[in-house]
Amino acid sequence: MSETSDPHQHSPRWQNWAGDQLCTPVTVQRPGSIEELSAAIARAGDSGQRVRAVGAGHSFSEIACSEGAQVRLDRLSRVLDVDTSSGLVRAQAGITIGDLSRRLDAHGLAMENLGDIDVQSIAGAISTATHGTGARLRNISAQVVELTLVLADGSTLVCSPERDQEIFGAARVGLGALGVIAEVTLHCVPAFTLRGLDAPAPLAQTLERFEELALGNDHFEFFVFPHADVALTRTNNRTDEPPKPRSRLAAYTNDVLLTNHAFGLLCRAGRRLPGRIPQINRLVTRLAGRSERVDRSAAIFASPRLVRFTEMEYALPREHTPQAVRRVLEAIEQRGFAVPFPIEVRTVAPDDAFLSTAAGRDSGYIAVHMFEGMQWQPYFRAVEAIMDELGGRPHWGKRHFQTADTLRARYPDWERFQAVRARLDPRGRFANEWTDRVLGPVAEGSALGSVVEGSAGG
Ligand SMILES: Cc1cc2nc3c(=O)[nH]c(=O)nc-3n(C[C@H](O)[C@H](O)[C@H](O)COP(=O)(O)OP(=O)(O)OC[C@H]3O[C@@H](n4cnc5c(N)ncnc54)[C@H](O)[C@@H]3O)c2cc1C
Repeated sequence: MSETSDPHQHSPRWQNWAGDQLCTPVTVQRPGSIEELSAAIARAGDSGQRVRAVGAGHSFSEIACSEGAQVRLDRLSRVLDVDTSSGLVRAQAGITIGDLSRRLDAHGLAMENLGDIDVQSIAGAISTATHGTGARLRNISAQVVELTLVLADGSTLVCSPERDQEIFGAARVGLGALGVIAEVTLHCVPAFTLRGLDAPAPLAQTLERFEELALGNDHFEFFVFPHADVALTRTNNRTDEPPKPRSRLAAYTNDVLLTNHAFGLLCRAGRRLPGRIPQINRLVTRLAGRSERVDRSAAIFASPRLVRFTEMEYALPREHTPQAVRRVLEAIEQRGFAVPFPIEVRTVAPDDAFLSTAAGRDSGYIAVHMFEGMQWQPYFRAVEAIMDELGGRPHWGKRHFQTADTLRARYPDWERFQAVRARLDPRGRFANEWTDRVLGPVAEGSALGSVVEGSAGG
């Protein structure tokens, strides 16, 4: 039994990384084994509480908030099995991507692609379709080959492409709404080295050449500060060169002092003097020089984020990306939004998880951010209106204003997800206010036994 497993114990308040999503769950559980996890969920069910799993709390939306029982996965953080020949790695759900990457590297393995931080839990990352960039590379959930879920009654269920395929299609990007993931098996690749090049380039040319740049590199993305006509491009390609890790001082100077502290100071200046943001943004863009690094993939992909902000991100059919970027920048100019943060533009290959934001289509991703303490709603609403017109799907872990009614038609497999949800969690135990809005109530329908006959075990 975990030290906080008393179901009557009131928890301290919980908040997300950005500090702007707060909740006070009735109970908090921190199971240290799958048996404790099952018992915690069964207990919550017995007392009629809704249950939300939480990973590292790095979502910007209220997706992880719980008004009932909260199950924190951070004690379930072990790597359970590594098969270097097949690349299959089984890990507990709460392990952070950074810890996992370090363990993989020790075995000569790596994740094929990652986002730009590595502190999320693996289960939290896959549950929201967290992604990196790479037009030929899929999001992290697409690397999953098997999942072990704990269901509302505390029983466990294993799903994979061979076993309960329909559940697997739903559970890979499950939004915490189907059950709690206890274990994940991932397909990993041999460890690799990346040559990373950061370089400014004219924005107009970058947008014109977007397809070519996205398809011609392993990982291409760019940032653009509003009011500046320069794209800060980031191009990472695999190389056979030996890694040349930076000294601790060089890494600290760049990743902490410049990218975070100096940038944070400029954001604070912009918050105090919003009229100066266009000049500040042009200054930051001018200061961003060209730099090159060769290092292990995980070290190139992820960097620390110390400046607090909130974010919205939309996935679009990739061909609409340049047009969408132009329209967002125009909206900022025309509506006079004060935006001291850059827009980030990435690509991801299609996959087949029912609620993956890249389900069935080559996708471009456009992320907009707002510094803490600044008004984000009018800006994000204006961006969302543009994304709505272009068939956008919101990142599940980031802010948006959509509801089940506005989202349903954007996902060909929406009803399949809802059918699995109704079967696995007919009483809506894994719902919260966010899922009430975004997924709607659990559809009335079949019970668990009819679908997963033989696979649910105690
Ligand atoms: C600074 C920053 C940078 C980011 N960069 C990127 C990026 O590059 N690319 C990108 O795509 N996203 C990015 N994100 C978003 C982030 O990856 C997602 O929001 C991710 O879901 C966070 O993982 P987490 O472990 O913190 O999950 P949480 O926020 O704790 O939870 C997210 C969801 O997962 C569910 N969940 C968690 N654990 C389990 C479990 N064991 N079983 C079932 N459900 C579970 C929760 O219930 C919730 O629904 C970034 C976020 C921040 C704050």
